[in-house]
Amino acid sequence: MIDNSYIEINIPALKNNLNFIQSMLGDKCELVSVVKGNAYGHGIENFVPAVAACGVKSFAVFSAYEAKKIVDIGLELDRVVIMGYIDDDQLEWAIENDVEIYMFDLLRLSNATLAASKLNKKVKIHIEVETGLNRTGFDTKELKKVFQFIEQNHQQLEIKGVCSHLAGAENIANYYRIKQQMTRFNQYLRSFKEEDIGFGKSHLACSAAMMNYPATIKDMVRIGIMQYGLWPSKEVKMAYVVRENIIEDPLKPVLSWKSKVMSTKYVKMGEYIGYGSSLLAEQDMRIATVPVGYADGFARSLSNQGKVLIAGHRLDVISIVNMNLFVVDISNVDEIQEGDEVVMIGDQEDQSVSVASFSDFSSQLNYELLTRLPNDIPRIITN
Ligand SMILES: *Cc1c(COP(=O)(O)O)cnc(C)c1O
Repeated sequence: MIDNSYIEINIPALKNNLNFIQSMLGDKCELVSVVKGNAYGHGIENFVPAVAACGVKSFAVFSAYEAKKIVDIGLELDRVVIMGYIDDDQLEWAIENDVEIYMFDLLRLSNATLAASKLNKKVKIHIEVETGLNRTGFDTKELKKVFQFIEQNHQQLEIKGVCSHLAGAENIANYYRIKQQMTRFNQYLRSFKEEDIGFGKSHLACSAAMMNYPATIKDMVRIGIMQYGLWPSKEVKMAYVVRENIIEDPLKPVLSWKSKVMSTKYVKMGEYIGYGSSLLAEQDMRIATVPVGYADGFARSLSNQGKVLIAGHRLDVISIVNMNLFVVDISNVDEIQEGDEVVMIGDQEDQSVSVASFSDFSSQLNYELLTRLPNDIPRIITN
C-alpha cells in the first residue's frame, strides 16, 4: 500500500555522489556523513544503511535523539557524533554506546566527565573551538581552563577530535570571514600541540568548504548536502563547473518525491478554482487534484507558482495549496487520467523538477525544503 505520496531514494545516485566526494578528499581524510534533519529528509533508517553499504561508516547528527536512531539500526560503524544537543540524562546512554559528543562549554564537559566516572568508562569527545561563527565553542581565553580540565580528568576523557564550523563557505561574500576562521583554527591546533594534548582528528570542512577552500580539508570532513546530490549553493556549483570546464553535473539527486492524480474535472470559464479568488478560470479548463498539501511539506508559497510533472509534461500548480491537496492545470494534456504518476521532485520521461528549482519557487533553501518533508512519508529504496 502506498500513502498519498512517497519518496524514492536512488542508490546508484548516492554511490556516484560518495565517489565524487571521495575524489575531492584523497585517502587520508575521513569522510563523515552528516545525517541530521532525518538525513536531510531522506530518512535516517534507510539512508544510513545505504551509506554504510558504500563503505562510509562515520556519521554525524545534531541530537542524541538522532544518534539513538542510528545506534538502534545495529550496524557496525566507525563513529556516530552528536554535534549539537544532548540532555544531561542522555549522557550515560551516549557513553555506553560509544557515541561521540561535541564539547563546547565547561559545564557540559564536567557533566560528561561525571557521567563517565559513574560508568567507569571514557566519554569520547570532540572539542569545538570558536573561530568566528559565534554560536558554540570554546574561545582562546577559555582554552587554558579546558587544557587543565583535560589533564585533570584524562582518565574519563578520550579526545576524538578538535573542530569548528564555518560561517557560510558557500558564499564568496564571506571570503574574508572564512579565511580568518581558517587562520584561527590553525592557531588552536598549534596550541593543542604546544600543550602536547592529543586531539585525535581535526575537522573544519562542510560541503562548501571542501569545494571552495581545499585547505579546510584536514583529518576529517563533515559532508551533508553534497552526498544527497545537491550543491550548497549555485555559486559553489558554478565555481566548480567553470574551473573544470564540464557540462554534466557530477552530482546526482538521490531523492524523488511522487504522488498520483486523485481526480480530474472540467471547470467552466468564469468560475473560481479553490478557496477564495486567487484563480479565475479565464477559459474552460481541465484540472487535476493531487493529494499532497502543506501538511506534507508542499509549501503554501507554491500556490500559483509550483511546477509538477504528469504524463511527461511540466505543468502549473494553480490556486492555493491546501492542507492536503493542490490543483494542477491539465487543460492542454488530454491523456492525463486519475491514477497517473505526479512528480513533485525528480524526473519523468525527459522532464525534471529539481530540488533547486522547487526551492526557488517556494523561496526555501534546498536544505530547508528537504528537512521539512515529514518523517512519515514512506521512503522507498530504488536500485
Ligand atoms: C550541517 C553541518 C555540516 C554539513 O554541512 P553541509 O553544507 O550539508 O555539507 C557540517 N558541520 C556542521 C557542524 C553542520 O551542522
